[in-house]
Amino acid sequence: MESFVSTHLHRLRSSTNLLLSQYEPLTLVITPLLALLIASILQSFINHVQDKGLKSALLGFVMDFVKLIPVVNDRIEAEKQKVVEKMQSGGKSKRDGWQTELPKAGLGKMVMDKLKDERGNDVVWQGKCSGTIYIGGSESGEHFSLINEAYSMFAHTNPLHLDVFQSVVRFEGEVVAMTAALLGSKESDSGGKICGNMTSGGTESILLAMKSSRDYMKAKKGIKKPEMIIPESAHSAYDKAAQYFNIKLWRVPVNKKFQADVKAMRRYINKNTILIVGSAPGFPHGIIDPIEELGELAHSYGICLHVDLCLGGFVLPFARKLGYPIPAFDFSVKGVTSISADVHKYGLAPKGTSIVLYKNHDIRKGLELLRLERGMERHRHVYVQHTCTEA
Ligand SMILES: *Cc1c(COP(=O)(O)O)cnc(C)c1O
Repeated sequence: MESFVSTHLHRLRSSTNLLLSQYEPLTLVITPLLALLIASILQSFINHVQDKGLKSALLGFVMDFVKLIPVVNDRIEAEKQKVVEKMQSGGKSKRDGWQTELPKAGLGKMVMDKLKDERGNDVVWQGKCSGTIYIGGSESGEHFSLINEAYSMFAHTNPLHLDVFQSVVRFEGEVVAMTAALLGSKESDSGGKICGNMTSGGTESILLAMKSSRDYMKAKKGIKKPEMIIPESAHSAYDKAAQYFNIKLWRVPVNKKFQADVKAMRRYINKNTILIVGSAPGFPHGIIDPIEELGELAHSYGICLHVDLCLGGFVLPFARKLGYPIPAFDFSVKGVTSISADVHKYGLAPKGTSIVLYKNHDIRKGLELLRLERGMERHRHVYVQHTCTEA
């Protein structure tokens, strides 16, 4: 038996050596190294495809190769530099005369003249800057005076201390409740448990909703490598959330009508998916995504759906009352788990005010569930009171 095996091994060795003897030793050394190189390029390409999809991976690869040509690379860098300089509005010259240290003597009331002078250099926006300021026309002056007077009464309060500033706590709760009432909290389909809080803007509302959804899905389904799927038209706040909170982000091209492509989004759903997003409307085109279809999709997979009503939250409910045919977009849609609505856009409040709403306490509490798990119960009281106002 042993001699049988050894004869065969011996023969195999001789025939292999004979076969390889026709090649140069150098070829024999280089071939496996080359194969390793190709394998590693392939591996990184596959990783790219998994990360970014086939199209952008191919494009990235072609670009990487093209950039290896020095002339092309120099040209690309020069163009990039031009764009950067343009964005920094002409570079240093604009900053001539800027005050970069505290003045030796206080300016006193003169500071007001300085502010007025500087404001005179701003672009005239009145009624002319769409998507920049959300009120124009003759009534804006009176509106601003009223808002400024109200704001100045509370500009120095600290709402963290809710035992001291009970008025502010009440106002926050009331704004949350009123916004929720506009967005379906009174409909029986909403579940009647909508809660939320005020934030410093649409971006913060979205960040909080993404973090809560991530933590909720971790507690509910044990998802530790979270992914979210959004239409290409969604706001850049989702990129920020993905980076801050370690969520893999899939941006899916919109359909021919510039709406979220629900079928295409479905294809990206896997066991790590925590959330999908729809905007009503989205910022780039002002087009409303099919929220009901997205709701069905989210519901059937047991994942979260955030509706971005930053722009539409204080328009759509009224447009609907006026009789415009607006499909359902709020908590009356099954599957919607959170909503953001900017009070500082069509709510006509001063900059720095937005609302984030959650379908129920469990979703909002995503964060708190984890805190409790880790025995960090100490802040529970303040946290719950401060951030959640049952609508
Ligand atoms: C404005 C806007 C946001 C972000 O709001 P900011 O208040 O600028 O942070 C997000 N989504 C949509 C659709 C918006 O219009």
